[in-house]
Amino acid sequence: MPDLDRLVAGLRCRDVLSDLSEFLDGTLAPARVADIQAHLAECDTCARFGGRIGAMVEALRAERDDSFMLDESALTQLRDRIQLAIGTSR
Ligand SMILES: [Zn+2]
Repeated sequence: MPDLDRLVAGLRCRDVLSDLSEFLDGTLAPARVADIQAHLAECDTCARFGGRIGAMVEALRAERDDSFMLDESALTQLRDRIQLAIGTSR
């Protein structure tokens, strides 16, 4: 289990992961997006937790517009992993 209480770039991994669905959906405030990107850029826990997260973040960085769509099954898997990791369910 990764250490999700690690503080990197002003955010804990737990905070990043709990916002990640919205981050990927593009519904987060731009300031929050910037915070999360700063965290992901420096946090090897998050980088290791989801190789896919890093790939998606790269894709989002490369194509920051509304036409960009994540692969549905990859997104579902990612959300499942996030919810497992932060120990919540909706
Ligand atoms: Zn992290």
